[in-house]
Amino acid sequence: MTNRTFTMIKPDATSNGHTGAILAMINAAGFRIVAMKMTHLSREKAGDFYAVHRERPFYGELVEFMSRGPITAAILEKENAVEDFRKLIGATNPANAEEGTIRKKFATSLGENAIHGSDSNENAAIEGDFFFSKLEQF
Ligand code: GDP
Repeated sequence: MTNRTFTMIKPDATSNGHTGAILAMINAAGFRIVAMKMTHLSREKAGDFYAVHRERPFYGELVEFMSRGPITAAILEKENAVEDFRKLIGATNPANAEEGTIRKKFATSLGENAIHGSDSNENAAIEGDFFFSKLEQF
């Protein structure tokens, strides 16, 4: 599906109470929520999700952070979803994120950056299927 992307509202934004405000920004930007759940990743599950970063020096920190508390996972639909959503969330490091982006508004650091957005159509499908069965994708 080329018109879908996957997102997670990360544990920092969840515990800071920003879930509702972030979902409102996502809707206001024209994305339709076609799957959504709140869940708490185990260390093992967080490690699997970010397996592509296994060799990176920050992998351990990333896994600890992502399994620290609940997240909200969602699949979003919109024309040009992957690229438009990356624009909406802003740069990985909030110090470099543009005004009006979700990370500029809600991220606290490079590691704890409030939200995830898939970087390709292929990864969007893989990541959506990681969290949702086909019956849970509308
Ligand atoms: P993204 O696609 O913008 O999420 O960025 P990446 O794929 O490069 O990194 C995945 C996630 O790993 C980021 O969103 C951050 O949460 C985390 N991350 C990236 N770089 C660092 C770093 O240097 N230190 C730490 N602690 N976390 C990082």
